[in-house]
Amino acid sequence: MLTTIYSQERGGLRFDVFAGSEPALSPNCVLISGERDAILIDVQFVRDEARELAERVRDTGRNLKAAYITHAHPDHYGGMAEIQAAFPDTPIFARQGVIDGILEWPAKRLHWQEAYGDQIPDEMPVPRPLTGERGSLEGHEVVFVDLPVAETVHATAFHVPGSGALIAGDLLNHHSHCYMADTNNPGSWLTALDLVQALGELTIVVPGHGPVGGTEVIDDTRTWLQDYQEVARPRVPVADIAREMGRRHPDRALPMLLWLTRGPSFGLVGPKELGVPPEVFGG
Ligand SMILES: [Zn+2]
Repeated sequence: MLTTIYSQERGGLRFDVFAGSEPALSPNCVLISGERDAILIDVQFVRDEARELAERVRDTGRNLKAAYITHAHPDHYGGMAEIQAAFPDTPIFARQGVIDGILEWPAKRLHWQEAYGDQIPDEMPVPRPLTGERGSLEGHEVVFVDLPVAETVHATAFHVPGSGALIAGDLLNHHSHCYMADTNNPGSWLTALDLVQALGELTIVVPGHGPVGGTEVIDDTRTWLQDYQEVARPRVPVADIAREMGRRHPDRALPMLLWLTRGPSFGLVGPKELGVPPEVFGG
């Protein structure tokens, strides 16, 4: 079930933020509406919630001009097939680096279909390349902000200067843990936070997960990352990092993210649970 977590008009545009359910990783997606037209940023993860999102867009009566994908994690792009089916004339755009990540979908499907069954589609549309530095919605400027390595290697944030709005994708996780398994690079991520903080006055800051706020959303992610930088020194085992970050931030959502890794730990579940024969590890 989708939850409307924010709805506000500012600078002549309306911002509606819909969060997915917690079992579906509660990603935020944003509908920005003008008087006749609208754009969507991120499209939910599982099928039911993407369909609900399409209904919410229809309910506004606006013409959906485009959808944009912030980054190549399935909780943000997984709903593309449903959005495309509901709005066949609406193009979906992403930067080329994000498209390259989405092309890894068949590998990710192996993992996610096991966890979510029919909620995960077999085929994933490929977005069109997003080019240029800015777009517009009824004359309101929407700036595409290419981020340094942060939560993943390639990601785009969307800045609407006339409304003081930043749609950050997973550059920001508010009251939630962060996903470090792609990059494990808190230093570069902190640089990315400085970059968006320097964009100018921000009064609507939409994180990829968690409540919408102002610049305190940026500070909240910064605090978590500074702690992580201290805790996750080279050679500290993943389990020790996860436990210590859980101890320092006991009330944050998505503690599961602390345990996700790539490489020899086989993602979320261990090799034992998957029935991987011990001899494949040698010894
Ligand atoms: Zn996410």
